Amino acid sequence: MAKKRAKIRLFVECSLGEGQGIVASKEQANYLFNVMRLKIGDNVLLFNGRDGEWLVEVLEAGKRAGKLVCRAQTAPLQLPPDLWLLFAPIKKSRTAFIVEKATELGAARIMPVLTDFTNTDKIQIDRLRAYAMEATEQCGGTFIPEVCEIQKLADLLEHWPADRRIMFCDESRDALPVAQALAKEEGGKWAIVIGPEGGFSPVEMDCFRGMVQVTPVTLGPRILRADTAAVAALTAWQSALGDWG
Ligand code: SAM
Repeated sequence: MAKKRAKIRLFVECSLGEGQGIVASKEQANYLFNVMRLKIGDNVLLFNGRDGEWLVEVLEAGKRAGKLVCRAQTAPLQLPPDLWLLFAPIKKSRTAFIVEKATELGAARIMPVLTDFTNTDKIQIDRLRAYAMEATEQCGGTFIPEVCEIQKLADLLEHWPADRRIMFCDESRDALPVAQALAKEEGGKWAIVIGPEGGFSPVEMDCFRGMVQVTPVTLGPRILRADTAAVAALTAWQSALGDWG
């Protein structure tokens, strides 16, 4: 029976490598063998965020268990640039959108931050981490960005690493257009900061402007919603300094 070409792609926690045996969890067995009806000899693509993507063959297929073995690496681990995204959580669905798009656009670390005007300090961290994993699964990625617990922006800035630049998205727009501002910069360790719906407070604005690591930028003449600004900023940074060149 011709083996089913691996169309299914699944995240697993375990290590992946040549000849590595894998014992499917109950949930994975249910999905692979009951829902997707894979049989012995069929193939599936697995990735774990560390070892790249692997073509894996089904050795045993049960209702609640199963065994598989790694046959060949189909894609190496593809690391994104060393880019963090700091953003103030907004409405749940739009916060999820930011995490999903930041994953697809190549952020290495996604950091929800509490700013003076953030209107929600509640985030469902497990859900956000699941969105990052699902976005990676669906987009053929092999690296899953770290999604951090929510932190106070002020605390982060107080201990900000000297060697990491910040692209500060300044809605007051008395900053250079982003393309012009980044044209003077180099790649390396960066962070992008996006404020909440209410924008940054004057204290926060002053704090950013007083930091040598900060490059203030304008994302065009129109005020963007925070989630739109996150996508626009990531796109501008990636095309100027990231791995899209
Ligand atoms: N309430 C603010 C106002 O009316 O000025 C708007 C805040 S905006 C909804 C949320 C965040 O997106 C801002 O804090 C900023 O980081 C970013 N942003 C939105 N439009 C921008 C622009 N044209 N230039 C730079 N940053 C922008």
